[in-house]
This record gives sequence, structure tokens and C-alpha cells, in this order.
Amino acid sequence: MQLYDPIIRETLAALSARPARSYAYAQSRAWKDNGASELVMQRDAAYELGGDDKPAVNFSCVTTDASFVDKDEIVVIGKDLGDIASSVPFARLAFVLIDDIKAEEGDTEPLFRAIQDIDFVKYHVFPEGYMVRTSAENNREQVRISKKAKAAGISFERVGCDYIAQYKRDPNIRAVKLVFVTDPALDYKKLAQDAKTVHDITLTLSKILEGMPADCNSCNLKPICDEVEGMKELHFGQNKAEFRS
Ligand code: SF4
Repeated sequence: MQLYDPIIRETLAALSARPARSYAYAQSRAWKDNGASELVMQRDAAYELGGDDKPAVNFSCVTTDASFVDKDEIVVIGKDLGDIASSVPFARLAFVLIDDIKAEEGDTEPLFRAIQDIDFVKYHVFPEGYMVRTSAENNREQVRISKKAKAAGISFERVGCDYIAQYKRDPNIRAVKLVFVTDPALDYKKLAQDAKTVHDITLTLSKILEGMPADCNSCNLKPICDEVEGMKELHFGQNKAEFRS
């Protein structure tokens, strides 16, 4: 399952050019989770990640290649939450190692469902004083940090441990590399393009699940599948060359 691997490879290479700090995952370090979304009012906010129209990129990529994700880890590139005083550009990227779920005899549903479930994890993480606002339309993930959380010592390491704890409830997941970026020197435009490609791939998987035609030439997703290596093989089964493309 290599659908997202080219994006992961490129993104990790770009990120490796900037200074980063790495933290090991420990469930006991997870920032308190409210279990439901919390409203942080403007007057109670310290600042916003991605506020004032600054970039706010988010995407999650699934892989079966352990060389990309060899352990549970939180990586921070740029200022941490305690050091930020006003709006900054922001990206949160999740690289998720899963077991190799075989698409046997064209039955790709278990794999597709697993990928969708992983994509939905982000909607089930509610760190206290960390109000996330997502836009599926443009893949933005903006975060309002409360003054109270900042004063209490909230950090990406602790928020990341909360995210990874939620990911680890999924039995298909073996490890997660979660990257938080606030470094203004990063190319957020490129990250936003990658987020769109990831979104398109996941959307295509959903459409395939709903039942697509078996003829690529009459399918409106063909431009995406032509770009993404392995998509057609996944749709029609690894060893089948029956589709017309
Ligand atoms: S593999 Fe072909 S039929 Fe399937 S979604 Fe892609 S273009 Fe459409």
C-alpha cells in the first residue's frame, strides 16, 4: 500500500532541512482531553495557530513502510505553544504506520475502511484549551489556544501524546509520527498542495467504496488515479489487469 508514500518521502525530506525537536510518546504525558469540543472565546484566547489568515495546513498519510515511521514520536519544528504570543503559520502532519491489510481478490473494502477510520481520528481529539477548527473544503486546521492552557504549560509534546493515544485505539495502527510545524521558513504553499493531493486520494477511495464504474475511461476520478501510483491496482485487485485505462 504505497498510495501516500511519494508525498511522505517528499514531505519528510523537506522537513528534515529545518531544526526539529523529537519527543517519545508516553500515554501518561497526554494533555487532558475534554472528550468533547470546547468553545474557547476570543477574550479567553492567548493566540491562534493559523490565525489572521496565516497558513493552517493539516493532512494524514497512511503507510506500510516502517522506514518512514519507526516509532511513536512527536516532532516539533518551530516555536512551541508556550513560546508563541500571536498568530503563527501552522501545520499538523500525521504519518501513520499500519499493518499491511491485503486487498485480496479485489476486496479492498477493509483497507479503505481502515484508511478512512484513521483520517477521522482527528475529529475525536479534544485537548483542553486547544480548540480546533477544521475546514474540509480547504484542508485547514486552525487552533485557538486558551490563556489558561498556556499558563498551565500546554505544549505540542503533550497535545501530541493526546493525539497518539487516540490513534492507538485503532488496532490497525502500529506507530505514529506526528509533526507540528510553526517555523515560518517552511514552504506552507507546498504543504497545502500536498494536503489537497492527500484529500483527493482519500476522496477517491471513498468513491471507490461507493461503487465506481469498472472502466477508467468513463470515470471522473481518472485524473487523480493517473497521478497516484497504485490506485488502479487497488481498485481492481493487485493481480488483475482487467480494467480499461
Ligand atoms: S481506478 Fe479507474 S475506475 Fe477506479 S476510481 Fe480510478 S479512474 Fe475510476
